[in-house]
Amino acid sequence: FRMSTPSLPGVADRDSTLDRAERETFDLAVIGGGITGAGIAREAALRGLSVALLEARDFASGTSSRSSKLIHGGLRYLAMGDVALVRSSALERKVIHRLAPHLAEPRWMVVPARSWAGLAKLRAGITTYEKLGDVEPQDLHQNWGRDEMEQGEPLLSRERFAHACVYREYLTDDARLVVANLRAAAAAGALVLNHSPVSDVTESEGRADGVAARCSLTGREFRVRARCVINAAGPWVDAVRGLEDEATKPRLMLSKGVHIVVPAERLAVRNLVILNTDDKRSIFVIRRGRAVYIGTTDTFYEGDNEEWPEITREDVEYLLRPVARDFTAEPIAPEEITSAWAGLRPLIGEKGKSPSEISRKDEVWIGPKGVVSIAGGKLTGYRPMAEMTLDKVAEVSGLTIGDAPENPPLPGGDFGGDLEGLAAGLRGRFGDLSDESSRRLARLYGSEAEEVVSRGAAPLTPGALPVVGELDWATNVEGAAKLRDFLYRRAGSAYYEVGDREGLVDAMARSMGERLGWDEAKVESEAASSRAQLARDVDFKNS
Ligand code: FAD
Repeated sequence: FRMSTPSLPGVADRDSTLDRAERETFDLAVIGGGITGAGIAREAALRGLSVALLEARDFASGTSSRSSKLIHGGLRYLAMGDVALVRSSALERKVIHRLAPHLAEPRWMVVPARSWAGLAKLRAGITTYEKLGDVEPQDLHQNWGRDEMEQGEPLLSRERFAHACVYREYLTDDARLVVANLRAAAAAGALVLNHSPVSDVTESEGRADGVAARCSLTGREFRVRARCVINAAGPWVDAVRGLEDEATKPRLMLSKGVHIVVPAERLAVRNLVILNTDDKRSIFVIRRGRAVYIGTTDTFYEGDNEEWPEITREDVEYLLRPVARDFTAEPIAPEEITSAWAGLRPLIGEKGKSPSEISRKDEVWIGPKGVVSIAGGKLTGYRPMAEMTLDKVAEVSGLTIGDAPENPPLPGGDFGGDLEGLAAGLRGRFGDLSDESSRRLARLYGSEAEEVVSRGAAPLTPGALPVVGELDWATNVEGAAKLRDFLYRRAGSAYYEVGDREGLVDAMARSMGERLGWDEAKVESEAASSRAQLARDVDFKNS
């Protein structure tokens, strides 16, 4: 017996979902479908509240698809003295791994050291981190000397590094983690809608009593009535606070973080690696399938394109410098970068500090009309953030909120964690799947991979990894309505596919069009807009 597949409303159920949004009065209206909003919606729905969540563009289209994609405690915050933050997120790693082992894959993080003294200092920090995170014996750190480095990470320059400390971190797919949480919320009764920007917070007698929004797919305007309104709009939290109170003062400082991607054959790292930058920050080099991504930068953002913050040549050079210095691979030229992404950290402003010095702590504010705004934090801490937000909601709204009766796995997470076994099972059942493709599918879909592939096991184009069934799944189960929703956030191909991406985009547009009833012109315009975005992603401007 399997529960019916929890799904998000697709294009076909749009009208009935909007009817429901207008008909009911909800306990909570949540603005924003990133990890913060998704976590709140799941937690609230599990605790028996009725929830409507509205996302302006696509789920996870903001910061929550532009992170470093690590479920981590943030070793560096330990050095900054943020012990409580590190403990909470270090412990959360185990919880997320239990709820969704495919979206929290244990990987080794290699931290090279130049001297014994450097290694000793690292080990001390990592040992504390492991204690805080209650790390299991088999996951405790190892120390590498030259021989182990040669075996384990042969591209690291052994002229520069004689040692490395290697410890456990967890790799996720941020956008898919958001979608999994939203599906869990929907399964527990929440109404969840993308492509529906909130344009106003409505009120009666000085208290917020809902939101006004517009479905950008159908043009229909609608209102949602709610006992409490939650603002989880990430980098847009201040803008949404402005809907409640025009006189509000900004609380956020946005910091831009850039990642760049190269084909794995150009920089064949095997694990996750930490390098130091010239300005004494750390960046990650992360192997993921056919791609390796490098990031991140950390600079204040003052532009006005919060959706697609510009990436400059300076950002790219900053990331490539330590790579050229610390690996023996031929230095990478900016022209070899196949894709890139920039995200904005919604940090709680602290005057006089540089972006990387500002704490990643989260904070909740109650607005003058009772809107609860939450910002800051990390992907990793989304569950404690949701709990804290609901405590505030109980305080301001008078709603009684009980404990969740249980903490069930996220959709796709009920398989115990053996990803290799899952991939082997897929290969056994679908003979045409390559090793590479079945591993990727296991990681993206977990125990649901078989159901996804049974909808179409052929690759979308020869040599590409995504299979036809994924499009069917994305449009019917995961609320994908535009080509970009699939390309960037359901399948991740915009970032990790390094082959013929233009051909893949055309195939995706056709296949998606068949499922959503697009005419020829719509198929072409969707493909053209995705091709243009892919080109813009790597069109680095001089700053
Ligand atoms: P968002 O994901 O931006 O979601 C807010 C949503 O609100 C958006 O989708 C937006 O479209 C929507 N919205 C805005 N206005 C409206 C409106 N009027 N109506 C409806 N919807 C609206 N954390 C980790 O744990 N691990 C990492 O490895 C990590 N790496 C990072 C790397 C970078 C470069 C950055 C920038 C951050 C990183 N973080 C990491 C932090 C983490 O990504 C963020 O804390 C988290 O994604 C923020 O999620 P959010 O839901 O608050 O914001």
